Amino acid sequence: MIQKFQESGYKIVDADEDISDICIVNTCTVTNIADRKSRQALRKVKAKNKNSIIVATGCYAQSYKEELEKMPEIDMVLGNEEKKDIVKYVEKYFEQKNKLIYVNDISKQKEFDEMGEISYTEKTRAVVKVQDGCNQFCTYCIIPYARGRVRSRKIESVIKEIENIVQKGIKEVVITGIHLASYGKDFDDDNIGLIDLLENINKIDGILRIRLGSLEPKIITEEFMQRLTKLDKICHSFHLSLQSGCDETLKRMNRKYTTSEFKEITQRLRKYYDDVILTTDVIVGFPGESDEEFNKTYQFLKDIKFYKMHVFPYSPRKGTLAAKMPNQIQGNIKNKRSQQLIELSNKNQKEYNEKLIGKTVQVLFEESKEGIFKGHTQNYILVEYKTEENLENKLKNIKIKKADIEFVIGCTD
Ligand code: SF4
Repeated sequence: MIQKFQESGYKIVDADEDISDICIVNTCTVTNIADRKSRQALRKVKAKNKNSIIVATGCYAQSYKEELEKMPEIDMVLGNEEKKDIVKYVEKYFEQKNKLIYVNDISKQKEFDEMGEISYTEKTRAVVKVQDGCNQFCTYCIIPYARGRVRSRKIESVIKEIENIVQKGIKEVVITGIHLASYGKDFDDDNIGLIDLLENINKIDGILRIRLGSLEPKIITEEFMQRLTKLDKICHSFHLSLQSGCDETLKRMNRKYTTSEFKEITQRLRKYYDDVILTTDVIVGFPGESDEEFNKTYQFLKDIKFYKMHVFPYSPRKGTLAAKMPNQIQGNIKNKRSQQLIELSNKNQKEYNEKLIGKTVQVLFEESKEGIFKGHTQNYILVEYKTEENLENKLKNIKIKKADIEFVIGCTD
């Protein structure tokens, strides 16, 4: 959106300074708390920019336009698909000066929304979105309603953008989507999937690393791995969303795999890449999760030994099936279970990091603060290294001397 305004001659200013004509809040609706924070952000921005027009867009605007319409602070509500024409809508407001609501039914959207160059770029890394929407309908999740059905970006469009990214000196791309494993499912040609896209990206000169965003585990078949392992730029770190290690809970969540299938998939990844790092997301306190079910999850996680787990206490999302399920779990139980899993995650991460002591790893350095450079290994372990040399955006082999939970420290020899 910033780019769209800049292309039309607008200047981007700080929303804290009360000098803007237009303030845009890109809202989130992933949990009830996200809705509340979005409303707070809208009120805060209006309080600081009294003469500005206030636009609410993003997923909360897409899903609950009626709630936003009622807020006196808001002048315009735009859905997700309307963002690409945001400048046109804002200019229409300037002509009419009436509250405007433009939110189309996103479930009817069939094409990936090309907004021009849409990647988020850091100094060494660019996040490239290749897919939007989801057809999975997990019972706790609002995303299929807020983002619509699966839409994939054409291979040629992704390649063109990454070739432009390389010109800026970026060496690493992170390929993301709402449900990356569904990439290509909406194309007329049934034979095009994520692996075909990755094979094309791997051929681009100048890109050294290709990282994958969160993946649905069932995409990791033998055939997928045989083709993936031929791609030398693929990073050996995979985020596989598990959500629960108990089959009964997974069924209530409407996840499409069993724990034994998931385990087989982690074994497959470890068979093909001996240095692979596996991370995951887990929801604790899902409706009906008894002590017995949680213990199954705990034992399963102990067995799989992820490098790191992102633990989320279940938060009911209005408009989803799970929010109406019986046997909602009390907050103190959720917190206790979260704590247990966070401790397990920290233990695994520290143990893994300690195994690196004395080994040499290749690091792509990103940024520095007070002479300490930070970067990641190919399999996404954070490395800190103190040096006078400017290592920004450079690859260097580093020997590891110390390990902490979240990172390891390199030394000069
Ligand atoms: S697969 Fe992910 S995005 Fe899709 S419904 Fe399930 S949790 Fe939501």
